[in-house]
Amino acid sequence: MAENIRLEVVTPEKQVVNDRAQIVMVPGSLGEFGVLSGHTPFMTSLKTGAIHYRDQDGKDQYVFVSGGFTEALPDKVTVLAESAEKMEDIDPERAKAAMERAEKRLAQDRAKEQVDNDRAKAALERAVVRIRIAGSQ
Ligand code: ATP
Repeated sequence: MAENIRLEVVTPEKQVVNDRAQIVMVPGSLGEFGVLSGHTPFMTSLKTGAIHYRDQDGKDQYVFVSGGFTEALPDKVTVLAESAEKMEDIDPERAKAAMERAEKRLAQDRAKEQVDNDRAKAALERAVVRIRIAGSQ
């Protein structure tokens, strides 16, 4: 059987995951990719999405990630994210409130600066992805 790979997910605030996985799927900015033990080393930036991994017991685990990048080494995947939460730690009500705030901003701020629009769109994307991940429990 293939060896497990170590997965670490960290943010500036905390270590979110330190586990061993059979396979790790990462939302890279150029698309989702899978990492198995022995993978060729590479680095990529992250897209807002879910890290999906199968733990040592064969259980599927999901982790929200946004911003940052990933380094995949043959025996280890490190994800340095701006924000990250395990599926069970996502507060769906908070995400819903964030979604409504971002939608309101986008509806009101059409004439405003592009940068405000971009921020609201990014906040909306984070909220929608959190709601999707929390809803798949
Ligand atoms: P909000 O407007 O609700 O703060 P946000 O998308 O702006 O949402 P982030 O900047 O991505 O929040 O994250 C700030 C901190 O709050 C991080 O530590 C992140 O893990 C946490 N966080 C944000 N939203 C949630 C949520 N719905 N459930 C649990 N933790 C959350």
